[in-house]
Amino acid sequence: MRKKIVAGNWKMNNDLAQTEELLSSIKLQWVKEPEATVIVAPAFTNLYHTFESLRKTPIEVAAQNMHQSDNGAFTGEISAKMLKSVGVRSVILGHSERRALFQETNEVLAEKVNSALENELKVIFCVGEELEERKKGNHFEVVKNHLEGGLFHVSPEAWGHIVIAYEPVWAIGTGETASPEQAQEMHAFIRKTVAGEFGQEIADEVSILYGGSVKPSNAREIFAKKDVDGGLIGGASLKAEDFMAIVHSF
Ligand code: PEP
Repeated sequence: MRKKIVAGNWKMNNDLAQTEELLSSIKLQWVKEPEATVIVAPAFTNLYHTFESLRKTPIEVAAQNMHQSDNGAFTGEISAKMLKSVGVRSVILGHSERRALFQETNEVLAEKVNSALENELKVIFCVGEELEERKKGNHFEVVKNHLEGGLFHVSPEAWGHIVIAYEPVWAIGTGETASPEQAQEMHAFIRKTVAGEFGQEIADEVSILYGGSVKPSNAREIFAKKDVDGGLIGGASLKAEDFMAIVHSF
């Protein structure tokens, strides 16, 4: 059975003290075992501290990005090897903010996926259309392009280490959420597209998360959809209470 996952993307928020505060609140609220695997993705500077702080919990630590090379003259960059060495288990790749603000292309993302997998990091691979693309009815095509261009070069064996996150760009940080039906429609399309390329067995096993203004008030309805296996949460993951309410929304 495929895994349910709730991952918090903390983006460029929280210094060390604020990170500790948030981690303490999450641990305090950990009163019952959730049905989902819980992942948090703090900024690079807080990764090791987060890993140490969560050592005795089942919560996993993810990074928000990485460079595709193992090491070398890439000033300001961080490699998969480095992430692994501080306890990171997975990495978010292809987030729409990385694609739009840092010009990350399918080609670069494909290299990052390779490097993450070679270094035994799980990949949370983001796909999703912009508002204009949805208005034009191109959303399926855009998502297919993200999948084919950045992810579908991997081997069938790699799929045990891959999670897909559908994040319609128009719903990220806007307060506007895709309806549960819109999410289900796209998730089913993604699963069908994976099945077409890698077979039904692999498609049935891959967790597909929804991301875009998920809150405690809408998580239950979205997570109830057949092909939605959890969420990638931005804003609401910065408040322990909201994040934990979402974690328990299955
Ligand atoms: C995100 O950026 O991955 C995200 C889903 O953000 P938000 O929940 O704030 O829309």
